[in-house]
Amino acid sequence: MAKLHLKPPEAMVVHCIDPRFQPAFREFIRHHLGFQEGEYIPLVVPGSVASLGTSISSLMPKHFKVFKDHLQVVFDSNQVRRVVLINHEDCRGYASLMRRLQRFVKIDLSKKQIEDMKFATGVIRQMAQRFTQLQFELYMACIGADNEVTFQDVLTGEMIVFEKHPSPASVPPQEPAGERAEPTTEKEKPQANRRGSEDNVLS
Ligand SMILES: [Zn+2]
Repeated sequence: MAKLHLKPPEAMVVHCIDPRFQPAFREFIRHHLGFQEGEYIPLVVPGSVASLGTSISSLMPKHFKVFKDHLQVVFDSNQVRRVVLINHEDCRGYASLMRRLQRFVKIDLSKKQIEDMKFATGVIRQMAQRFTQLQFELYMACIGADNEVTFQDVLTGEMIVFEKHPSPASVPPQEPAGERAEPTTEKEKPQANRRGSEDNVLS
């Protein structure tokens, strides 16, 4: 059974709910950003920072306020130093919000996603003024060949390349040598138990 992770997180990561991107987001957060579960605050919302973007505060103030309220809770109870914002291509949450916004302003979606992340940093910085060391990282998750998800650093324009390290949870636990009972004959091997323990290691 998992225990409470008591070490306070210093980072917040904002990304979309889109289930197609969750494995890529997890991988990116673990291997590029270097966070294990519990080491960061995940703020997972439809469209990521869409509700903090340009024109939203004046044209859709309720969306803007709800997102800011969520952020306020994060900042009130955590010492955040690092804020990571991730938007992604083909975002249905974003598109849905933008369809409504398009009644008022003309929108180039991919351009707006980038602009909004930069705009959101200003909104967040203003809300979190007491954290003077606040650092921002902005990324765009893109769909490449064979549906591979790649990440671009929005501030530098660089494509991110990272190595995948095995997570502690995926490394099979070492069996203590003293407890390993050697079956005496082929017939006595406890097949069912052996299969059970292998399943445990894999899960
Ligand atoms: Zn999305």
